[in-house]
Amino acid sequence: MQHVFPSYYKKFKCINKKCRHNCCIGWEIDIDSETLARYGSVGGEMGKRLSKSISRDGEAHFILSDGERCPFLNSENLCDIILTLGEESLCTICREHPRFHNSLPGRIESGLGLCCEEAARIIIGQVEPTLLEIFGESDYYDEIIDLRDRVILVLQDRSRPISERIRNMLDLCGASLPQKTAEEWCDIFLSLESLDTKWTNMLTLLRSEHKSIDLAAFDRHMSERQSEYEQLAVYIIYRYFANSFDISEASVAASFASLCYSLIRTLGALIYTKTKKFDFEDHIELIRMFSCEIEYSSENIDALFDILT
Ligand code: SF4
Repeated sequence: MQHVFPSYYKKFKCINKKCRHNCCIGWEIDIDSETLARYGSVGGEMGKRLSKSISRDGEAHFILSDGERCPFLNSENLCDIILTLGEESLCTICREHPRFHNSLPGRIESGLGLCCEEAARIIIGQVEPTLLEIFGESDYYDEIIDLRDRVILVLQDRSRPISERIRNMLDLCGASLPQKTAEEWCDIFLSLESLDTKWTNMLTLLRSEHKSIDLAAFDRHMSERQSEYEQLAVYIIYRYFANSFDISEASVAASFASLCYSLIRTLGALIYTKTKKFDFEDHIELIRMFSCEIEYSSENIDALFDILT
């Protein structure tokens, strides 16, 4: 069995109090059965607090407090479970977040998810092309993995501008984006489930003002920062391509990477046109929001993949 992860994977460390978008706020956190049994055996005040704060309605989960906060997130935005019982007492979701693991034949591929601002900083801020580090042996050959590795090399061909690399990726996979106007794409994104009105406000503004966006000026502004788009596209391909049933399904992941690039670039250009500024932290915030809104909603991902198929 092989274990694969990107070269930046081990750099991640949660920034706790410094995080502007704490992942313990706004998400329902399910508790795996092993952890649930362990929490059931905790005594004293913490045991009482745990039993009051867990719902067993459907999948066991923490009952969120006001402001959709995890009930164990204290006023200093630190986790009382870690402080009282130790980090090893966290449930799987809390222990693993923002890491993901894809189980594929003969290998497990792990990575960091862009919904966490610190993970996004590490991924998008990686200056060198991302390498996939492979540990262990497997004699399983998979043509989709082989094509995925070639797609990543195309995306990392820094002798070409990023827009050309994206086109070359689509050509290599025999993929394309459906022909739609900017308004039609905005309407599609606006029809999806959303978490934050900031996201829908931005899409609404894009829909009404896309003709006034100075894309050429924005591209000049980003000309020395193309690696940020490269890392975004490589992340999408690494995460979604190899899960596919066959090559034609994998080509949809290439279309999805192209769509993500177009949307993030156009929204970046909108922000730049409005504010005359778009720095690295602005890009991280945009990509983090995109990831929370689109990538971390299975309904939204399924809806977009359906449109791209
Ligand atoms: S979003 Fe990331 S950095 Fe922020 S609290 Fe969660 S794991 Fe830590």
